[in-house]
Amino acid sequence: MKRSKKLHTKFIFITGGVLSSLGKGLAAASMGALLEARGLRVTFLKLDPYINVDPGTMNPFQHGEVYVTEDGAETDLDLGHYERFTSASMNAKNNYTSGKIYYSVITKERKGVYLGGTVQIIPHVTDEIKSCILDLAGPQIDVAIVEVGGTVGDIESLPFLEAIRQLRYDLGRENTLYIHLTFVPYIKTAGELKTKPTQHSVKELRAIGIQPDILLCRTDRFLPPEIKKKIALFCNVDEDAVITAKDVDCIYEIPLIFHQEGLDEKIVELLNIWTREPDLSVWQEIVRKYKNPKDNVTIAIVGKYVNLKDSYKSLNEALTHGGLANDLRVDLKFVSADELTPENIEETLREVDGILVPGGFGIRGIEGKFLAIKYARTHKIPFFGICLGMQLMVIEFTRNVLKWEEAHSTEFDKNTPYPIIYLMKEWYNPRKGCIEKRDETCDLGGTMRLGSYPCKLLRGSKVWKAYGCDEISERHRHRYEFNLVYREALEKAGLKVVGISPDEKLVEIVELEDHPWFIGVQFHPEFKSKPSAAHPLFKDFIRAAYEYKKQRKERN
Ligand code: GLN
Repeated sequence: MKRSKKLHTKFIFITGGVLSSLGKGLAAASMGALLEARGLRVTFLKLDPYINVDPGTMNPFQHGEVYVTEDGAETDLDLGHYERFTSASMNAKNNYTSGKIYYSVITKERKGVYLGGTVQIIPHVTDEIKSCILDLAGPQIDVAIVEVGGTVGDIESLPFLEAIRQLRYDLGRENTLYIHLTFVPYIKTAGELKTKPTQHSVKELRAIGIQPDILLCRTDRFLPPEIKKKIALFCNVDEDAVITAKDVDCIYEIPLIFHQEGLDEKIVELLNIWTREPDLSVWQEIVRKYKNPKDNVTIAIVGKYVNLKDSYKSLNEALTHGGLANDLRVDLKFVSADELTPENIEETLREVDGILVPGGFGIRGIEGKFLAIKYARTHKIPFFGICLGMQLMVIEFTRNVLKWEEAHSTEFDKNTPYPIIYLMKEWYNPRKGCIEKRDETCDLGGTMRLGSYPCKLLRGSKVWKAYGCDEISERHRHRYEFNLVYREALEKAGLKVVGISPDEKLVEIVELEDHPWFIGVQFHPEFKSKPSAAHPLFKDFIRAAYEYKKQRKERN
């Protein structure tokens, strides 16, 4: 790579220090929001240091939610933040892991691409990383924000850091910017903010050749000028490049705080970009609504991964967005499905205004989910079933209304006499324009139905009213499907198919007649919700929950 490479796109590299979970993803997303508010076009890249090729095989308990993009890539949850905070559209090329990088290098080696050479981390792996980063550039993108996962000092992230170090040499100072997110703790007993961890973290970065240009300091209070001065002096950055990244209640306040601290001004100054002042009215409006709700609703999420908040990241956000659209605060009550029993269900769910069973894999907690679904159906509480939640909703109905008690999904009972939910051998993918075939040699199918698929809505149905259109497109991540053999029997009993693929082979949405809101979707609507534009189903679900709450109050 040569120094003279001329690109329109400029790059911001974000690294993290001291400890993990400081919110690098949200910081990157908020930065993107600010640059967009200045009229710039942005994109993102998340570089994850682990060896898995993608997070698709990872347990949500460890890694949090797997975020699915339009093109069907299974990615890091930070891509969800990027899409919620900006208009950038993410796909497979916006998330690379060490595994994906090494896989590509090793594949090339086997094909003889490096014939005769010794394949090494530098330059082969670092060049591969650089080419993924540079791939983001183009005339349509003004700034690409690259977030390096992990914490500086980890062995795993070294090749990524070396690659971004080289890029300043390749692209020049005005085209690259290093932003480091660090931690400034307040020590209560001393009554002081401490800068030493930040100094050490920057020292660590400098040891590998990166001098940060801007420091984002995560802290519980605004940093006073003398602390900023001290950090600036010891870390060798401008005083106005030390930015407070204060803890917030509402994540959508982060862009406003960053702006108040002068972050976007400093970025455009250092990257030498001329822009207008940012228009932040959208973010101000979101925060105003968030802080002044007219009332609240409580939604129970009955799931398996309820102990790690990040497991349902997009879902939690989508529910909040549904609240914003109705001027309501949404309080989430996480209910661990495997602890729900016929004895404690009344006490657990009596006071909630809506119940949601989210997506999931594996049999654990299934019985508890059936109990919650039945409770919502029979008590006429608004109920939203997502993916696995929808599948279980159909099974619960078959068992308890049609009285086919052995009905199940073949995911959980291979020999059920009523395989209401089953594995399909092949299906049409309009996005790719081809038939997708399940790999019969693999136990779990080898393929999931992933990414966006179109769906026709039944006129007059609740979902048709909520969406306000005849055809929609939503993102998927599952193997099993509604078995059309049972459609007629279910519809006769009142559970209607109201959303289906254009070829009428894949059932996408079911809705119960004679219930205020009992809707199940085979897709994941939460991936497409934004704070400024709540997903129509979440907006309508929260509206229905509030109606229910008002009625409940009247009854009592
Ligand atoms: N386990 C179910 C399937 O594979 C549902 C998956 C999900 O909820 N994302 O079809």
